[in-house]
Amino acid sequence: MIAQTPNNPSGSPQAARTAAPSGTLRYDARSLARHLVVTGVASENDLRVAAEVARRSGSSDLRALLELGSVGEDALAAALSAWSGCPRWRAEDETGALLDPNDGLPEDFMKSHGVVALEAAEPPDASGTAPVRLVVADPSDHLSWSAVQSRFVGRSTRVLVGTQKEIGLFLAERSAGSGPDADTGTETALDVTSEIGALRELASEAPVIRFFNQAADRAMDLGASDIHVERYDRRMSLRLRVDGVLVEQPPPPPAMYEALLCRIKILANLDIAERRRAQDGRIKLRLRGRSVDMRVSIVPTTYGQDAAIRLQDRQRLADIKLEDLGFSPENIGRLFAVAEKSHGIVLITGPTGSGKTTTLYALLRRLVNAETKVVTVEDPVEYQMDGVTQIQVNPAINLTFGNTLRNILRHDPDVILVGEVRDKETAEMAFQSALTGHMVLSTLHTNDVPSTFVRLIDMGVEPYLVNAAVEGVQAQRLVRRVCVACANKEPARAACRVCGGIGYKGRLAVMEFSTVSAALKRAMLQGADEHRLRDALLQEGYLPMRVDALRLIDAGLTDEAEVVRALGHAGADATGEARG
Ligand SMILES: [Zn+2]
Repeated sequence: MIAQTPNNPSGSPQAARTAAPSGTLRYDARSLARHLVVTGVASENDLRVAAEVARRSGSSDLRALLELGSVGEDALAAALSAWSGCPRWRAEDETGALLDPNDGLPEDFMKSHGVVALEAAEPPDASGTAPVRLVVADPSDHLSWSAVQSRFVGRSTRVLVGTQKEIGLFLAERSAGSGPDADTGTETALDVTSEIGALRELASEAPVIRFFNQAADRAMDLGASDIHVERYDRRMSLRLRVDGVLVEQPPPPPAMYEALLCRIKILANLDIAERRRAQDGRIKLRLRGRSVDMRVSIVPTTYGQDAAIRLQDRQRLADIKLEDLGFSPENIGRLFAVAEKSHGIVLITGPTGSGKTTTLYALLRRLVNAETKVVTVEDPVEYQMDGVTQIQVNPAINLTFGNTLRNILRHDPDVILVGEVRDKETAEMAFQSALTGHMVLSTLHTNDVPSTFVRLIDMGVEPYLVNAAVEGVQAQRLVRRVCVACANKEPARAACRVCGGIGYKGRLAVMEFSTVSAALKRAMLQGADEHRLRDALLQEGYLPMRVDALRLIDAGLTDEAEVVRALGHAGADATGEARG
């Protein structure tokens, strides 16, 4: 029943003699590590990083080594075979039968742990039990490998080394091709299972892992905020968002598409078989000794699925100072002066990606001290701040901005940070808090200072409340900073390592600020429209952000093209209105 192929070393009796004397494989991490380094399969650094990743993620040493892309599956199996003396197993040469599950191992277990229990060609030994051949991919997975070995204690065993991929495909083929259900209604179910198995294997191939890690690495290098993987009719695209602008990168080959999407889904704990619905997940990855958090969003498109990955560099947000954002000392002084008052509302406004949250946190950090109780309501909590009580809104359990604020007021805060004023209820609670002796910091999604006042009144806040409570409004945008190394000048730019040839590196804030002046108060009470509110502000020294932008252009920190991009044409037109 078992046909031996003559040139199959794993089946030949000679091969058995080269295996460990006991017919087992005892995993010894140090001894294997020495072998890998000496034979040049992996460097000491690869092994150190893999051990650290394994320790933190609860993965096995060898799996971590593969997932980091330091070694390919084939190379690792060859090395493991040479080190242990256990022959290399080849699925395509395997003609033996799987052990009966009652006698061997359950199929699910074999699939998930990368082992195969096969009948051996030899006749039963003196005790009358038939010998067993065990194929293993990861003996460093200590728990499962020792469980397998103890299952066959007292039986004559021979250990062979395979790869997870080979084992997965082998088991999928055997289970799909045999059994009484093979051509009945369960066929589709089996097909799906084996397809998922195949996808999973594809996603764990070294080139895919390497591609993903390199993309993440490049993103870190350039300080990118997002990675976009897109698929079109005949090509794929990889783009990184650097300083707010997408930058094209060398794309993966179209053939890698399925595997790459799967790789991302596996890392983010998503359903790899789901292709028709959007999915969200998180990835925690260690890159160059830093822990990187990624928020993954996968959406179905005409040509397949696209992935967008946001890199969350919490440390950067925690460390940033307003000075680093390019705010002038006068602007910082005015903003702090209003925020340090005992009560009132300070609003930071701008579209998404205008750096509102960064400004808000920088402001908050300045206000946190032992005598001040600071409470925040956020969606989501971007990073944890020492000395601050932070609450994340959760509409599912009725924890909205509005009713969370109501609860907070009973918590005796001095300063309240409200992530965003989105609706009437939040606006009302924010103004009530400000008028009852609290300093409220928040953001609003408006383009400039004049439109912010209009928006508040549109939301249903009475003009006299706006007059009474608002201490200051700052509207802002981010413009890219010209690269100091190449100054965005050809041909130096093309070869510039500092900005990666982009010409810009880092960002600066452009802002405008106003308190509620007497003329503005009068105009609001008279029910003035946006145009007249703007005129009232201009009468009293309000400087639109395009003026601030000119300061940065004159200082050579940014350029005209960049200001036009970030502010719209209002940024270039000195007489036009500063609409974003
Ligand atoms: Zn440069």
